[in-house]
Amino acid sequence: MARKIVAGNWKMNLNLEEGVKLIEQISEYCESTNLHQVEVVAATPFIHLHKAVEMAEGKKLSVAAQNCSEKEGGAYTGEISVSMLKSVNTELVLVGHSERRLYYGDTNQVVNQKIKLLLKEGLSPIFCVGESLEDRKSGNHTSIVKQQIAEGLEGLAGTDIENIIIAYEPVWAIGTGETATPKQAQEMHSFIRDLLAEMFNAAIAMDISLLYGGSVKPDNAREIFSQPDVDGGLIGGASLKADQFNELIHIGSDVLR
Ligand code: PEP
Repeated sequence: MARKIVAGNWKMNLNLEEGVKLIEQISEYCESTNLHQVEVVAATPFIHLHKAVEMAEGKKLSVAAQNCSEKEGGAYTGEISVSMLKSVNTELVLVGHSERRLYYGDTNQVVNQKIKLLLKEGLSPIFCVGESLEDRKSGNHTSIVKQQIAEGLEGLAGTDIENIIIAYEPVWAIGTGETATPKQAQEMHSFIRDLLAEMFNAAIAMDISLLYGGSVKPDNAREIFSQPDVDGGLIGGASLKADQFNELIHIGSDVLR
């Protein structure tokens, strides 16, 4: 069965002190409640990572990085390697977020290199895909997502991808306040599941966790999380406020099955 996950993506927000406080507030909430089978993840900036991983140890919370280098190491000023992330016990890493694709030129090929390096080191990629508004309007949304997945997972076998989590995040819904309708989310998730079954096999496709991301908030999460092929959410803005994120964890725990 696919893992059920409520994950926050802090992006380039919060200084260390604010981040530590937020980790404390999320962790306290997770410890005080029955989460059923939901896993809670916070994708923090690199600077917070080591401290956040230490704070989350033994707690019902995992910490993710928001990116990694596609290079193994060496003269790449400003970059962070997979082995550095591993050395501070990071388990999960976002790759291919639309902001990385748009502002930093992360192509499907670069994303593929990052995924391969992460898997080789035993870390789990949270592999983000999603179409632009233009693609959606022109009806190309499924073919764009298909290409992102085919190229992002190129060269990988079924056994390799068991630890991958996929986040479908329509670019037009990220940080815009506009959310895909539950029907649009379900349609794309079901399309991705079928595609994975075709590329690998049906059992693997069923076991891969498919998260929805794009303006998920406490007032729309219940309906989205209730869709049969939605295994959780990747949450940006609403993950920065403890009360909102904890409410999303509560909703996830209630409806994700
Ligand atoms: C994201 O950045 O992954 C995201 C989904 O952001 P938001 O929830 O703010 O739309």
